[in-house]
This record gives sequence, C-alpha cells and structure tokens, in this order.
Amino acid sequence: MPELPEMENYRNLLGPLICGKTITAAQINRVKSINVDPTPFLKETIGCSIVNIERRAKHLLFHLSSGKVLLLHLMLGGWMFYGLESEKPDRTIQVEFSFGEQKLYFIGLRLGYLHLHDNESAKQFLSKLGPEPLAAHFTLSDFQSRLKVRRTSLKATLVDQGFLSGIGNCYSDEICFIAGLLPARSLNTLGTDEQTHLFQAIHGVLNEAIQYGGYMESPLYVGDRLTGQFNNRCRVYDCEGNPCTRCGSPIIFHEVASRKCFYCTECQH
Ligand SMILES: [Zn+2]
Repeated sequence: MPELPEMENYRNLLGPLICGKTITAAQINRVKSINVDPTPFLKETIGCSIVNIERRAKHLLFHLSSGKVLLLHLMLGGWMFYGLESEKPDRTIQVEFSFGEQKLYFIGLRLGYLHLHDNESAKQFLSKLGPEPLAAHFTLSDFQSRLKVRRTSLKATLVDQGFLSGIGNCYSDEICFIAGLLPARSLNTLGTDEQTHLFQAIHGVLNEAIQYGGYMESPLYVGDRLTGQFNNRCRVYDCEGNPCTRCGSPIIFHEVASRKCFYCTECQH
C-alpha cells in the first residue's frame, strides 16, 4: 500500500505535469470509486484547472480552480499513470482525466477512492489524522508527549494514523530497524535515548524514501526513473531470510499485533 513517501513522490512528480492545466475531459469507469453521481462529478471537474496538489497523510488533494477538492486515497493496490492513450498500461482503469492529449489514469482503485469535496468537508474528513511526522513544527518533545499516553507495541503505534499520519507496514518496519528497536516493544519501555533514536529514524527513513521515489515500482510516466528506487534500499521489509545489512543474521518475518513485521532479532532490541 502506498504510504507517505509514495504519495509525496506522486505529488512531486505530478505537480509540474498537471498544475495549471485544465481538465478537458474525464471518464468514470467505476462509479464506486467516486462519491457523487458521475454526471455532477464530470460537471464539477471538466473545465477546471488543477491549482495545486497537497498531500496529507496517505491522501493527495487536487485543488481545483473552482475551489473544490478531489481527495485521493489509493489504499491497497491503487496507483497512477500519466501519459498518452497509446502509452497507458494494459490494466483496468477506474477513473481518467484528460489534459488535452495527456491523461491521468487512476488504476487499481478497488478499495481506493477519488472523492469530490469542498474545502471544508475535505478538512473535516481529514481532521482525525495525527500530525505529519515531517512537519517542521512537529518536534521531538511533541513526539515524546504523544508516546507517553501509549502502552501498545511500537508496530501498532507507528501504523496508527491517529498517532502519526502516513506510516504503514513498510516504513514502520524500516523505521524500527534503523532505530534498533523490535516492533513488538511496548512503548512504555522506551528510554529517552530510544525515543530520540526513533524520532530520528522516522525522519531519516521517510526522507530517504521520498528522495528515492518510494518503494512502489510502477512508473508514473514513460521514462520515469525515480519512482520505486527505494524498493532496493529496503533493509527489512519483504526481506525475509536475507542477511541483515548490519549484522548478517537472517531477517525474520513475524506477526505483531496481527500485522506483518520484518526485523532482525540480533540488532533490534
Ligand atoms: Zn542485524
């Protein structure tokens, strides 16, 4: 499932491609992917331009020139492709927007969605999300005070969107590895140094993943060499049996709080 870095990568790459451009046509192939009837949806989007693209947690918000917002969550299996009709992947497309000849395709939106909101309802919809971990105003002491009220495992906490937003199964494992902490560790057992390492690992892992285009490998457009480059840099996620990059012990796969976890039992404590 795309997490914060994958969505930030989409935001970075899509901005120069579609911001300022007008939606000249749209097609809805799966009505369940949107939240209003297709006719008003098309009426509200065709003719609008994309003013800017914002990311909040694992969502993208496409701000339209009309003041409305298209709110995207890709959930499990969703992705996007931008290009000519002749370049599009041979996959089922749920929604597409044309910008003249070029089109933005939404693919694999079975659990995911693209919802039309006004600014207020979008804000309301996102209001229960925890802070953005990379926001400049989110400090170590903010993080520590959020940790205090938790007794759950590190894994369950990191993926809890009310605690911090945007982290899922992949990056929670990568963060635990870099911090040297076991995913099953109970939060109330973390010392001050461990809390600091965890905070630094969150920044280090998410920033590195954004820099390398996230771990999802489908390119956004023909010639996109950035998207998915982080996949080869994952130290533990989906690396069961591979030697640990720090100590050489095999990476373990185990379920913690009924979630898939990959970690090293030798150098995570
Ligand atoms: Zn190790």
